[in-house]
Amino acid sequence: MRLDIPDLSLVALVGISGSGKSTFARRHFTPTEVLSSDAFRAMVADDENDQSASADAFDALHHVAGIRLRAGRRVVVDATNVRKHAREALVALARAHDVLPVAIVLDTPESVAWQRTEARPDRQFGRAVLRGQQQNLRRALRELSREGFRKVHVVTEPDDVTIVNERAW
Ligand code: ATP
Ligand code: MG
Repeated sequence: MRLDIPDLSLVALVGISGSGKSTFARRHFTPTEVLSSDAFRAMVADDENDQSASADAFDALHHVAGIRLRAGRRVVVDATNVRKHAREALVALARAHDVLPVAIVLDTPESVAWQRTEARPDRQFGRAVLRGQQQNLRRALRELSREGFRKVHVVTEPDDVTIVNERAW
């Protein structure tokens, strides 16, 4: 599967925990392009799993994303982005900086994502949390194309993806 991604874009990864977002981001984008909510939680609260730090973490993430976009640098947001308000903020940020918002959905089966999550020592939440994320993801898949994303790529075989960098102009 070939994904054309404009050089100057804000790429929102969308996927439940364990769907493979961070792995995908590492494989296909440069480390400095990727802004991860975990890294920003760690930065502001010394704990990447501290959900109470999410508001501050996203504040900081959006701020840095804006600085990069203003300088003409691509941003890839590694966060679940399964909730509408999270995606709305990213579309607004892209529009404010005149770049294309693109969504890449990692549509990994919930059972697979759970197996992977359960095996991780650094993930503590229960099955119900993942189920809730999956419900939000199903809704997202219906609504994404109407939310202002220029392109929505739904990936079911992440190992078969080739990213082609597209010069916007
Ligand atoms: P979180 O939202 O919790 O940060 P994530 O979506 O970023 O999760 P990853 O950390 O990328 O998920 O992957 C979770 C686990 O699944 C890791 O142990 C990773 O090695 C494994 N994994 C990710 N992608 C694949 C893949 N394509 N094939 C096999 N294993 C994978
Ligand atoms: Mg991750």
